[in-house]
Amino acid sequence: MTYDVIVVGAGPGGATCAWKCAALGLKVLIVDRAPSLPRYKPCGGGIPSSLVRHVEGLEPEKFADLTVTKLRHTWRGKSPVLAEMTCSNGEPAQVWMVQRPRFDTYLVEKAQAAGAELKLGVKVSDVTVAADSVTVTAGDESWTARYVVGADGAKGIVGARVGLRLGKRWGIAREVEIPYAPPASASGGAEILMDACYLDYGSVKNGYAWIFPKAGYLSVGAGMLVPRQPKAEQNVGKILMDAIHTMLGSVGMTYPEGAEAPKLWAHPIPFWTGMEPLATKDGRVLLVGDAAGVVQPLFGEGIQYAVRTGNIAAQHLASNTTQSYTAAVREELAGEFDAALRVGKVFHKTPYLSYRLGVKNPAGTKLVGRLMSGEVSLEHLEQRIYDKLKNPFK
Ligand SMILES: Cc1cc2nc3c(=O)[nH]c(=O)nc-3n(C[C@H](O)[C@H](O)[C@H](O)COP(=O)(O)OP(=O)(O)OC[C@H]3O[C@@H](n4cnc5c(N)ncnc54)[C@H](O)[C@@H]3O)c2cc1C
Repeated sequence: MTYDVIVVGAGPGGATCAWKCAALGLKVLIVDRAPSLPRYKPCGGGIPSSLVRHVEGLEPEKFADLTVTKLRHTWRGKSPVLAEMTCSNGEPAQVWMVQRPRFDTYLVEKAQAAGAELKLGVKVSDVTVAADSVTVTAGDESWTARYVVGADGAKGIVGARVGLRLGKRWGIAREVEIPYAPPASASGGAEILMDACYLDYGSVKNGYAWIFPKAGYLSVGAGMLVPRQPKAEQNVGKILMDAIHTMLGSVGMTYPEGAEAPKLWAHPIPFWTGMEPLATKDGRVLLVGDAAGVVQPLFGEGIQYAVRTGNIAAQHLASNTTQSYTAAVREELAGEFDAALRVGKVFHKTPYLSYRLGVKNPAGTKLVGRLMSGEVSLEHLEQRIYDKLKNPFK
């Protein structure tokens, strides 16, 4: 057999898994269909700094473009409220803004430095499981390993080839990247705070719109985060586009048209129910990241969960305990995801009330800061929201 592990997909989930497996002494091949790196992925690129509590060896100074410590909230583009995210000691809580090509390449280089072999331009088309090995095929080439990790994203094929994640549930997001430099003078155009994430509610039912700043551009998007959209909302693309216009309007910007128009991306956001297995019964094939659907359903946040499941998978691969991988992911994430779903349900049922009492209240942003720094959990956030709804004037 040539490899211990073949990882399909070199995004954050696959690259972390390859890095950690190689660091634990496994012989690893990581393949991606991209012909070269860095490669683009539509994404807001916001990562809570709490991630360092879960995965050792990350160096944010090497991959974070900017650090955000404030949130600026609007309701349908109006009445902006700017609030600080803080830790319990009063220090600013941090959310890293990463450019995905740079972040993903950073992780792949960590994997290579630890000894993983990288092959690009490999579009995997089939996965065949035998008694003690798995074969991965791309065109007329194939490779064999003891284990395969499907890290091939929301529309990945590894899971489908081995009977995993067949009844996927989706949300959807649209995003555009608009070149931006802070104006030289006060009258020189829209001024975006480079240490704030801009969030707009009310324009997208069951979701929100955002501006996430980067060095040299703004990631502007909108997402609908409820799996299986109601029939009345078939025109999701237009709703999301209108929300992007509203978001831009709230900061005095317009969508660039004509030759200036940037590419508008649409991409699914997959969700895991917590019940579906994330590995085959024999433990030969495991799924991580978007391929597993591990996206937190309140914010639509998936990078940290891709990295975390990549890390968990590596521990199980190195100890030959892959059959308990799903249970380990469930133990680490199901509580968070269930709380996120419940909070989302309350928020989406009573969006304006939730916005007025929770989001717009500076105490709400402080609490989010504690969540982003890892001081409190989503379960804690949920409890605080219920307390507030029960007794709004306390
Ligand atoms: C518009 C939008 C904005 C988002 N913003 C945020 C955000 O701000 N913060 C956040 O945390 N999350 C965000 N997300 C979610 C986040 O982008 C994903 O959760 C994250 O990219 C998952 O990483 P991954 O490694 O699992 O998959 P991916 O990043 O999708 O990587 C999968 C890799 O697999 C490769 N691949 C696919 N098929 C094959 C094949 N057949 N053979 C070989 N290689 C293959 C692809 O080329 C790719 O490199 C956003 C998502 C969207 C759509």
